[in-house]
Amino acid sequence: MCARLNIAVIGGGIAGLGAALACQKKGFEVTLYERNEFMNNIGGGISLFAHGYPALDILGVQPQFDKITDPIQNYAAYDGNTLLMQDSFDAFSKEVGGPLQSCLRGELQSAMATVLGTEHIHLNTTVTSITQDEDQAFLKLSTGEIADADVVIAADGIRSRALGGSASRHYTGYGFWGGVLESKQCVEMPPHTLYVLFGLGKMSWILTLPDDRQWWYVAHRMPEKGFIQSADKISQIKELCQGWSTMVDHVLSADQTSENFALPIYDHRPMPQWSLGRIVGIGDAIHAMGPTSGVGANTALIDALCLAQNLSENQSVFSAIETYEISRKPLMGELQQVEQESAAIKLSSDLEVIQKRNQKIQQASVSQLLDKIKPTILGSRESIKRFHNTIQKGGV
Ligand SMILES: Cc1cc2nc3c(=O)[nH]c(=O)nc-3n(C[C@H](O)[C@H](O)[C@H](O)COP(=O)(O)OP(=O)(O)OC[C@H]3O[C@@H](n4cnc5c(N)ncnc54)[C@H](O)[C@@H]3O)c2cc1C
Repeated sequence: MCARLNIAVIGGGIAGLGAALACQKKGFEVTLYERNEFMNNIGGGISLFAHGYPALDILGVQPQFDKITDPIQNYAAYDGNTLLMQDSFDAFSKEVGGPLQSCLRGELQSAMATVLGTEHIHLNTTVTSITQDEDQAFLKLSTGEIADADVVIAADGIRSRALGGSASRHYTGYGFWGGVLESKQCVEMPPHTLYVLFGLGKMSWILTLPDDRQWWYVAHRMPEKGFIQSADKISQIKELCQGWSTMVDHVLSADQTSENFALPIYDHRPMPQWSLGRIVGIGDAIHAMGPTSGVGANTALIDALCLAQNLSENQSVFSAIETYEISRKPLMGELQQVEQESAAIKLSSDLEVIQKRNQKIQQASVSQLLDKIKPTILGSRESIKRFHNTIQKGGV
């Protein structure tokens, strides 16, 4: 069992905050460094499955999370304006142990930061380099200070410099546009609902939120350099989607909050190296995947629990890191593959593929549509239980 470790976390995304909270729960000293002034670096909405939010529960975030989340009960899929199927989430929720939960990324990060305690978070602080000797790692900070740590958790996202993640970054061929709608701007849809709209090389998701709000994404195939990042970004996607779906037209013509964005989407091919001595990666730093299955944040939270658990159980930092890597790598490789294959079908421009896809959707239930991610949700239960049991026993 590792002694009271001093842990530095690079990055205040969901992975970094999750890791910091998990390590804190295990009784370790934690300091988190985030280069931005705010932690909401992407914006927009996020959905969590019945492995992501039980992890939040164990990390003590559930009371705050309950205030900002909307449990999704209804699902409807369209091809443009044509309804393909609608179903309740009930059977799926029963199978995996809970509903899909919709929330805003920034609100979730704020909730996690509050529970962690702002005294453990250094905003506006970039980790510029890391060195290591036999006993410790040393982080050079943009403030001019040097911080030491027994373990450095690299939660610095897909362009990770701590682990060189950007080297295996790969453009997926599509981008995501997203935003948030408030009250009168919202699409007419029942409460607790997810609408999924399919099209030719494009797709949209619209989800309800508490307080009479909704969030939306449109994914569209696009050359890597084709994105407009100025105020015109919504006009760009509006033009690309014209005439496809009345609902998407409504969303893209509505007044948006400041949360809207346009993002080229990158992913990783499985990375051979997840660690470098005392530096160990989690989340998008080591296994970034496209967002069309909505699993990246869920997965990052399970990484966080597993890593903290291993650090608390192993005799040395190095064996803890090795055990964590061995246990997570194959699963993440499979999930990356699932997401790539699923995105190819969801965003296909091939009419034959589209026809087959639509036929499948018309005959399917929500539970069948989400079949491929069920093993990940159910498989994560063991990690959650193990973490929970050791916390219950008060054990580091
Ligand atoms: C459009 C979109 C929609 C998504 N929707 C979902 C969804 O519905 N459900 C789901 O589960 N997942 C979703 N995901 C995936 C999910 O957002 C990520 O997988 C998850 O949040 C983990 O991200 P992260 O914390 O590893 O990285 P990031 O969120 O990228 O955070 C990395 C942080 O590190 C900071 N940083 C980087 N370098 C340094 C440095 N040197 N010093 C200090 N700080 C540094 C950055 O500023 C940033 O804040 C979505 C992703 C996208 C892009």
